[in-house]
Amino acid sequence: MKKYLVTPGPTPVPDSVLLAGAQPIIHHRTVEFSKLFRDVTAELQSVFQTKNDLFVFSASGTGGMESCVANLLSIGDRVLVVNTGAFGRRWENILKVYGLKPEVIEYPWGKAARIEEIREKLEENPEIKAVFTQLTETSTGVVNDIESMAKITAQSKAILVVDAVSGLGGQEIKTDEWGVDIVVAGSQKGLMLSPGLAFVSISKKAWNLIEESKLPKFYWNFKTYKKFFNEKGETPYTPAVNLLFSLHEALGKILEEGIKNVFTRHSLLARAARAGVTSLGLELFAEVPCDVVTSVKVPEGIDGISLIKRMRDEYGVSIAGGQREFKGKIFRMAHMGYMDKFDVIIELSALEMMFNKLGYKVELGKGVAAVEKEFLKK
Ligand SMILES: *Cc1c(COP(=O)(O)O)cnc(C)c1O
Repeated sequence: MKKYLVTPGPTPVPDSVLLAGAQPIIHHRTVEFSKLFRDVTAELQSVFQTKNDLFVFSASGTGGMESCVANLLSIGDRVLVVNTGAFGRRWENILKVYGLKPEVIEYPWGKAARIEEIREKLEENPEIKAVFTQLTETSTGVVNDIESMAKITAQSKAILVVDAVSGLGGQEIKTDEWGVDIVVAGSQKGLMLSPGLAFVSISKKAWNLIEESKLPKFYWNFKTYKKFFNEKGETPYTPAVNLLFSLHEALGKILEEGIKNVFTRHSLLARAARAGVTSLGLELFAEVPCDVVTSVKVPEGIDGISLIKRMRDEYGVSIAGGQREFKGKIFRMAHMGYMDKFDVIIELSALEMMFNKLGYKVELGKGVAAVEKEFLKK
């Protein structure tokens, strides 16, 4: 059976990106490596829309998140987590492991952060040093208004740390123009690459905190990465060299398509996916839907867990279910990274057929037609 990976990470990887990784390993203390590494770092900076320092770690996205906590803070620092779902909770959990007591503004799943609430919190508590949040909250399909949050943090002492692991490369984030201090991303979502790399960009304002930070860190120490990069174009420890070959190819493809066009493609796919599911009488879960994943409520009486499982087992189409208390209650269809129009059509077609098998009768072809109409509007 042919398989279609349309989950919100990992995502499909173009053949040329996979093949680029299949080159003989080069040594990481060579001129050849330094050139590759300086090139990919510059390409990443273009995609992040930043001139800030940017480091590459051999880790999944969560490693990138942890590196921020370890490098920025000291015990007793006041920090704020703007929690809109499972990944907001992850910031809280990492902070607690490091002995911090994060203050949390928590929103019900499916809701986006309210900017006024964050503004008030920071005005009333000027000692807060950092605000942690998500660009796209993958567990709910919501996009947060990072531009407005950055305006607020810019007027305070606090820095803004944004987990853009699922957003980067699909949902616009203008790191420098908006003034986002730290952006974290990963390789296996919008960047069309295998899992295994994390990326972190760091502003000057954030470096001030890093200078004062006393939390323990060794592998994650940003200062070590900065020194090796600036002096030699290298990483302090053995990098995932073959993933960097692939990264170079993937970023080349993104820059060739053009960042603007990449965002236009994602927003078209998102609009089409929403048109498709709503035409079937289904309800969107996200209050402010993002462009990289569409989350949808499972209709009353339908088993959401077997919907996902049977789509995968019987049609080879992998979408994602809900997490935690939303397991079985929502499903999530990705349109991030190396995905295009026919990925959305496949998702809708498989959904329509499986819904009928499960007893939620929808008119076959109706969702697909709504998707196609959206594509023809352009
Ligand atoms: C996938 C994801 C992560 C990190 O997950 P890893 O499995 O560690 O790569 C973090 N934040 C968000 C929003 C994500 O979607």
